[in-house]
Amino acid sequence: GIVLGIESSCDETAVAIVASDRRILAQRIASQDEAHAPYGGVVPEIAARAHAERLAPMIEAVLADADIELFECDAIAATAGPGLIGGVMVGLVSAKALAMASGVPLMAINHLEGHALSPRLADENVVFPYLLLLVSGGHCQIVLVEGVGKYRRLATTIDDALGEAFDKTAKILGLGYPGGPAVERLARSGNATAVPLPRPMKGSAEPHFSFAGLKSAVLRAHQSGEHSLADIAASFQAAAIDCILDRLDHALARCGEVSTLVVAGGVAANGPIRSALEQLARQRDLTFTAPPLALCTDNAAMIAWAGCERLPLGQSDPLDIAARPRWPLDPEAEAARGAGV
Ligand code: ATP
Ligand code: MG
Ligand code: FE
Repeated sequence: GIVLGIESSCDETAVAIVASDRRILAQRIASQDEAHAPYGGVVPEIAARAHAERLAPMIEAVLADADIELFECDAIAATAGPGLIGGVMVGLVSAKALAMASGVPLMAINHLEGHALSPRLADENVVFPYLLLLVSGGHCQIVLVEGVGKYRRLATTIDDALGEAFDKTAKILGLGYPGGPAVERLARSGNATAVPLPRPMKGSAEPHFSFAGLKSAVLRAHQSGEHSLADIAASFQAAAIDCILDRLDHALARCGEVSTLVVAGGVAANGPIRSALEQLARQRDLTFTAPPLALCTDNAAMIAWAGCERLPLGQSDPLDIAARPRWPLDPEAEAARGAGV
């Protein structure tokens, strides 16, 4: 089958056409980094307007690039949440209009499901079940992916997401927005053992992550004036990696039999994090896959691919389906945490 995908949940406007045999037939992506940079973060209203301006011509261009007519697609897949609601609505409403005009079925995709299944688009050898480290701007989770639509969340963050910690560290160090790549770049010239920083939750019997304390420690280290920016960046990144490895150890000891580890989400673009995970997988005799960088940060190919994964299940969504600012991958785990379990 062939699926047109639309992504507009944050600050990338993206459209892609993907085939079930993993070919990306065409894709375009427009980042809004410059529009948001002066504010040091994404401004929802600016993002929604930019998506609205760019999306329609981008859809036309991608169809032309792939030399495909809309009615030849088997589904139109759009991110329906979670994310900044204005932007999500722009993408979802566009998809509904296309579906209505063409008669092609609509699929409302969970953005996190797009990230979660992206390793399978990148690598046909990633088979269910696999252990997923999902690290992005808004999320930090360990998920046992048992199949399409079958996500068991084993761990989440009790405060900040990892991407958020990278972005806040960048802001403290004056590196600008987006912060993750800037911190990674600066860390290359720093000493990762120079600044003593905490490893929140390391060794905890709880499965979860926490990064708020690490961010505060970065702020104090910076304010002390005793350390170079590069040393702080490198020490922060090393602390984050320590936390990730410890939490994966915890999950691997409890998740039952898995032979595959994958990482996805924007922070999965980080080189030292990818290397650390690869090494962990080697030690544990696990197969490891990290998608290419362009499939880690937000993109529409992963949304179209989530649609491809759903095609054999024969599921589409009604045209009155609502956009959702919050939409957990594993509602049961989310409800249990909300209840303080
Ligand atoms: P979510 O997917 O949780 O809704 P999002 O879509 O905004 O959030 P992504 O686009 O998946 O997030 O990821 C963006 C995040 O990834 C940002 O926090 C950014 O700083 C981080 N990031 C991107 N590249 C790197 C990198 N090389 N190193 C560390 N972090 C990175
Ligand atoms: Mg972005
Ligand atoms: Fe994302």
